[in-house]
Amino acid sequence: MKILVPVKRVIDYNVKIRVNSEGSAVETNNVKMSMNPFDEIAVEEAVRLKEAGKAEEIIITSVGDKGSQETIRTAFAMGGDRGIHILNDSNTEPLAVAKILKYIVDKEGIDLVILGKQAIDDDSNQTGQMLAALLNWPQATFASKVEVNSSELKVTREIDGGLETLKLNLPCVITTDLRLNEPRYASLPNIMKAKKKQIIEMPISDTGVDSSPRLETLKVEEPAVRSGGRKVADVDELINVLKEEVGII
Ligand code: AMP
Repeated sequence: MKILVPVKRVIDYNVKIRVNSEGSAVETNNVKMSMNPFDEIAVEEAVRLKEAGKAEEIIITSVGDKGSQETIRTAFAMGGDRGIHILNDSNTEPLAVAKILKYIVDKEGIDLVILGKQAIDDDSNQTGQMLAALLNWPQATFASKVEVNSSELKVTREIDGGLETLKLNLPCVITTDLRLNEPRYASLPNIMKAKKKQIIEMPISDTGVDSSPRLETLKVEEPAVRSGGRKVADVDELINVLKEEVGII
């Protein structure tokens, strides 16, 4: 089984996001970037399948600027085998990413794609679902457990009110939820080995996918600053404040 894991380079989840001076996007200059946390979980799951003898090769791919190669190498240090970097200096919307992933799946003869359920920068939660539709493959989204028995997969998903278990056949698409696993830290020897692994770089135009934007961002603004709370003496005062000052009852 050949697994494809797409990894997105996003602003590190510990960084406090700032809006740029034009109010057109969030500031990414001089900001720490990391692998999207759900994609780390996807890489970890693929590596566990390989370690269990259920997969032969893990291909890592990222669509983005030059910096994406660092993210691919982070995935190598966790256990990815080789990489494909699709170079695009501007933002690539989920539909274009899904079409690019389909191109790679067809070219590489992929059996299983494991993606994050969402990228924490745009929170789209679209790419995996669109890819499954484009490929006409079954999909199991928000996976919290994956079991592979030859060409059959059992995927557990957390849904409102309980757990749902899906049975699906390869080839298929899975997207990861937070509780699927705990990604490993890369060891120093593996970080060194990652430097030698191969990344093929390809300009986005070579994939034949039209990546021109279909969405227009009108404005990006910081959330309103919260005003402080205050203590009230009793329930009567609380009701009065909610009625007269806040106007919600
Ligand atoms: P989204 O639909 O944007 O929330 O992203 C869902 C998942 O699609 C991510 O967790 C990644 O696995 C994958 N993905 C999205 N954008 C990219 C990208 N530019 N490069 C590689 N993978 C991506």
